[in-house]
Amino acid sequence: MTDSSTVQARGVDARTPDFIAIDGPAGSGKSSVSKAVARALGFGYLDTGSAYRALAWHVLERGADTADADAVIAAASDFPVQLGLDPDDRSVRVGDADVTEAIREPRVSGAVSGVARVAEVREQVNRLFRSLVAEAPYPAVVVEGRDITTVVAPDAPVRILLTAAPEVRAARRAGELAGEDAAAVAAALHKRDASDSTVVDFLNAAEGVEVVDSTELDFTQTIDAVLTVIERLRGAHRG
Ligand code: C5P
Repeated sequence: MTDSSTVQARGVDARTPDFIAIDGPAGSGKSSVSKAVARALGFGYLDTGSAYRALAWHVLERGADTADADAVIAAASDFPVQLGLDPDDRSVRVGDADVTEAIREPRVSGAVSGVARVAEVREQVNRLFRSLVAEAPYPAVVVEGRDITTVVAPDAPVRILLTAAPEVRAARRAGELAGEDAAAVAAALHKRDASDSTVVDFLNAAEGVEVVDSTELDFTQTIDAVLTVIERLRGAHRG
């Protein structure tokens, strides 16, 4: 939380932190790239997917099914989630439970699209994201997700869609989940994309959104490409 003294400490120019909006599908490199970019620029970092994942975990913990919209809405009405903005601390809590690891488990990944489909829930988490950014003790926050460039912050000075060919995304995700069967990981990822893309379009760039295609780029090159876009667009925005 930022109190008024922190706001004053930012000086007379104190203003609401900028959104650096980055969308993209699973396995596009979005999370690791966004985090590295935030670190490089001294910005905050918000992984919006972790809020949806934490809510899916919370629904499952209550013994409910994420396909049941009423159960999802009931769980969301009592959802004490805590998300930080420090790129070096990705811990996520729901009440007293540290769910940082649990929300990455395949059972949560497999259930999260059900939560993401509920419009009421999307509005609730979007309000949370906007208030976290508004109160952030950083000049800007790199916010990554699926609908940041289009719904959460359509007026952000920097809006980027990070893409990669489907087979490259599946291979990257399989590499992250060592020990899981590569074909099963690819199938689960494509199933989640198909389900998610009926809710928000994160495969095509909206007007004014810059596309960075990482298919042929390694991690460092992708970070550089994103930093270049940010520098250009923030410069243009400031005039
Ligand atoms: O980014 P990540 O893969 O962790 O996101 C988990 C899930 O959260 C997505 O599959 C999607 O269902 C949902 N999500 C969303 N909108 C966002 C971020 C994530 O619907 N802005």
